[in-house]
Amino acid sequence: MKSKLALFALALSFGASVFAQSTSNVQSPKQALMELQAGNERFIAGNSIYPNQCLDRVASLKKIQEPFAAIVACSDSRVPAELLFDSGFGDIFVIRTAGNSVVDASTQGSVDYAVNHLGVKLVVVMGHTNCGAIKAVVSTPCEHGSTHDEKEGELPVLIEKIANCIPQYQGKEDQLDGAIEANVEAQTDKIASLPHVKAKTATGELKVVSAMYNLKTGKVEFKN
Ligand SMILES: [Zn+2]
Repeated sequence: MKSKLALFALALSFGASVFAQSTSNVQSPKQALMELQAGNERFIAGNSIYPNQCLDRVASLKKIQEPFAAIVACSDSRVPAELLFDSGFGDIFVIRTAGNSVVDASTQGSVDYAVNHLGVKLVVVMGHTNCGAIKAVVSTPCEHGSTHDEKEGELPVLIEKIANCIPQYQGKEDQLDGAIEANVEAQTDKIASLPHVKAKTATGELKVVSAMYNLKTGKVEFKN
């Protein structure tokens, strides 16, 4: 398994550096952030240009991908990152989970892949207003809220894991906005504190930021 992964990584790095043309002009975290901000501004102004969405672009990516940013966003159907940032194929690496959380190996491993093997310049954890997953956290009264209701499947487990990231908000139904903000910060901190992420942010080749998407206006506000 390990050797397969290593071969895969080697193939990717070869693909990116030797055999293929670069598919991204973004060279720095600052540029990556500006690219996302510009895309969101086009979107809210009604001026989306839908870049990189043609079949030629699809064909140009058949061997490699070089997305400039990884976005951890909520699975909520109202939060489609590619549309909010007016981006196309190969531009952003999007990880969507209920509550924009990185509380298990599949989500964390996906971020690690984007950082270590795809060379993204920016990781964005993006929360959104009126998030149902965080609503579930603030309306769960007890400290260890998982009810283990079989009908609910794994949902209570996920909600409990998110609640453990923002325990101060559990049962605080009147503090939804604060809980949403706190969750974004907690997930951002979790990613930013990983040793391999720290090593890249220290050299300036990577930045980790948080953001909030407003469901009413379409605007994404970035922090840090
Ligand atoms: Zn949500």
